[in-house]
Amino acid sequence: MRVGIGTDVHPVEAGRECWIAGLRFEGIDGLSGHSDGDVAAHALCDALLSAAGLGDLGSVFGTGRPEWLGASGVRLLTEVARLLAEDGWQVGNAAVQVIGNAPKIGPRRAEAQVALSQAVGGPVAVSATTTDGLGLTGRGEGVAAVATALLVALSDADRR
Ligand code: MG
Repeated sequence: MRVGIGTDVHPVEAGRECWIAGLRFEGIDGLSGHSDGDVAAHALCDALLSAAGLGDLGSVFGTGRPEWLGASGVRLLTEVARLLAEDGWQVGNAAVQVIGNAPKIGPRRAEAQVALSQAVGGPVAVSATTTDGLGLTGRGEGVAAVATALLVALSDADRR
């Protein structure tokens, strides 16, 4: 078994669609970036890649693969899950915590868990917290996420 860790932060951008944990949140400013800014999906991608020893989002989807520019967080996660399976890993479980003032994740936690679990192909727990007004997330300038993942190696016979 192998564990991994991932983090991500994106700035809030007025008027942008808000996508976090694979869900669209209406009436809330979204996060800027080359993609949909889904910090939860991105942190989870990095945790999964980290656990497998396969690098990170930048090394896997960076400048060498322009076809992934602007891809949604869930699409990136689905591709990460495919790469892991190809390398002989099964997702034991994963967890992601969203840090920010808005949107409120709690009311849509179950929905977020379903969206991310489906993309990952294993159970993903979603939680959220604030920083009591401190720092860039507390001032509402950005949203952050941290994630962990546990992978189980398939038997040598199953590994490609
Ligand atoms: Mg990101």
